[in-house]
Amino acid sequence: MKTILSILTILFAAPLLSQNTFSYKTANAEVILLAEINSTRKADNLIGYTPEIAAETAPDNTYPGGTNAFLIKKNGENILVDTGLGRELFKNLESHGVQPEEVGTILITHLHPDHFLGLVKEGAKAFPNAKLLLSLKENENVPENAKKILELYKSDIKTFEPKEEATLLIHGISSMAAYGHTPGHTVYIVDDLMIWGDITHAMAIQMPYPKVAISYDTDPQMAIKSRLRILEYVTKNKLIVAGMHIPYPSIGIVTKEGAERYKFTPAK
Ligand SMILES: [Zn+2]
Repeated sequence: MKTILSILTILFAAPLLSQNTFSYKTANAEVILLAEINSTRKADNLIGYTPEIAAETAPDNTYPGGTNAFLIKKNGENILVDTGLGRELFKNLESHGVQPEEVGTILITHLHPDHFLGLVKEGAKAFPNAKLLLSLKENENVPENAKKILELYKSDIKTFEPKEEATLLIHGISSMAAYGHTPGHTVYIVDDLMIWGDITHAMAIQMPYPKVAISYDTDPQMAIKSRLRILEYVTKNKLIVAGMHIPYPSIGIVTKEGAERYKFTPAK
């Protein structure tokens, strides 16, 4: 009986153990990857992507990408960082025993659809008990396609002003300004782990060449400056990083490989 049960457990657990989730334990929290898409992307929208860089980093003109949100479990609190597209989000949360009404805080890195669409489910507020935290700058520059969704959370939105240094925000989590990709793009730090949102889109290219930008950056030059500052910060402080577009397992360590060249090693 016990054997049958363990076989059943393995069978049913298998899809969840595929590439949807990955968990990393920090000193006081568990950071869980909620992945939605892992795919190969065409290196079409990059800025400053020279033929030499292409030949070295993406000879077939593609790079591996992902679309992720993260769940932080800390002191009995469920804290979401972004909500992805909302396609796999609820299934992924359920696989970690979390119902939408049990999410008390949602930290938003920025207001692009692949980060906020999961805030709604069938046209209604998907997280009825959640406070939504986003930077003042992002809230002052809400894109047209995010307005309706934010309206649903109107009474639950709290804005804050992240600084260039890490500043304590809520539940022992700090925020840090990393503007450029969008006007108010913000990263979050829990213990020794930074969830860096869209600091990179094309890891294979932007780790060795962080001055390569992407056409979706609101201000590519500012995005490059923020990327270099954050890369310097995480390597200096030996922080683990987790990223919304880092391919599975989407969590790992960054090391400096030269003046402005970095390397990402996935966590195991
Ligand atoms: Zn994104």
